[in-house]
Amino acid sequence: MMTLPDLTVLRPASVAEAVEALRANPGARVLAGGTDIVPNLKYGMYDTQHLVALRGLSSELRYVREDRSGDLRLGAMCSIDELGRSEVVKARLPALADACRQIAGPQLRRMGTLGGNLCLDTRCVYVNQSHFWRSALGYCLKKDGTVCHVVAGGKRCVAAASNDTAPVLLALDAGVKIVSPGGERTMPLRDFYVADGLHNTVLAPDELLTEVRIPAAAATRKQAFAKLRMRAAIDFPALNLAVALELDGPSVKSVSLAVSALAARPALIKGLQDLHGHTADAIFAEELGRRAHKQCRPLTNIGIDPEWRRDVLPVLVRRTVLRAIG
Ligand SMILES: Cc1cc2nc3c(=O)[nH]c(=O)nc-3n(C[C@H](O)[C@H](O)[C@H](O)COP(=O)(O)OP(=O)(O)OC[C@H]3O[C@@H](n4cnc5c(N)ncnc54)[C@H](O)[C@@H]3O)c2cc1C
Ligand code: SF4
Repeated sequence: MMTLPDLTVLRPASVAEAVEALRANPGARVLAGGTDIVPNLKYGMYDTQHLVALRGLSSELRYVREDRSGDLRLGAMCSIDELGRSEVVKARLPALADACRQIAGPQLRRMGTLGGNLCLDTRCVYVNQSHFWRSALGYCLKKDGTVCHVVAGGKRCVAAASNDTAPVLLALDAGVKIVSPGGERTMPLRDFYVADGLHNTVLAPDELLTEVRIPAAAATRKQAFAKLRMRAAIDFPALNLAVALELDGPSVKSVSLAVSALAARPALIKGLQDLHGHTADAIFAEELGRRAHKQCRPLTNIGIDPEWRRDVLPVLVRRTVLRAIG
């Protein structure tokens, strides 16, 4: 049986106390719903001695609010389950509600939070294993080792971003609010992730993601989410993607396509501006699939044939775009 290491759990009662606890205890990690960090702790992936539990921040960080401007604000401690069921989210951001309903299984969705999902550690078939398993392979760059088993000679970990809400929120131009002992900052989600599987966000050790803000315009965009996985429940994505389209009659006014579960950072497909003005039809959907195929190269970081995942990608994009157009 895998057991938790010896840890001290700190239980702040406010965001201010939480970031102060992170500052005062170097190496401390945030515990939200615990659905990902607890298994990882049991795998021996972190050397931390302190966990800063966010449960006591629920009254501060668990909300779905609409601003006067029409922007939607989601607190980081909203559970995945409540976002999947929220009438506001379903009506305004159906792709996000859909993504939430496809995360893990019912118990994990009730425990798991939006903040934990966006800050989810990257995953790799060579690292989400017991310590014994990893030691037999000689470890890897992500923890305790010096090599990467995915990219021969690679100097950077390419473990996969595997969070299902990220591509949707990227495609919808969401932003995040981050709080530290020194104050707060906001940034577009597209600037939040970095291409480093060891730590794939810009969060400093004493920073907390507290809120996600989705612009009012997102609710008017045609949108859809899709996820490839081996089983229709529980499984992490083998690929996930989201498309958001602004239409002007039959024409495309703007389009965003985000694809993830490839490498450490969810990817926004580049260079789609020339498709603005195109009729939103099957040819357009096919073209988006072609471009995604060109730009995305799945790796062996997920234990499912990367060539097959790449072949499936344009099919998944085409179907998702057609579903979004309706
Ligand atoms: C069997 C299984 C299947 C799963 N399937 C899926 C799936 O299909 N799709 C998917 O997306 N996820 C999946 N997950 C992962 C996980 O359940 C969800 O991503 C969940 O939303 C994580 O939220 P949490 O609150 O439990 O995060 P935690 O485990 O508490 O934290 C995750 C990480 O985020 C950090 N963190 C948490 N909150 C914050 C914050 N507010 N600010 C800064 N850092 C923070 C933690 O320090 C930790 O590093 C699965 C997990 C399991 C065990
Ligand atoms: S991508 Fe490479 S370094 Fe990163 S976890 Fe996988 S094997 Fe380890």
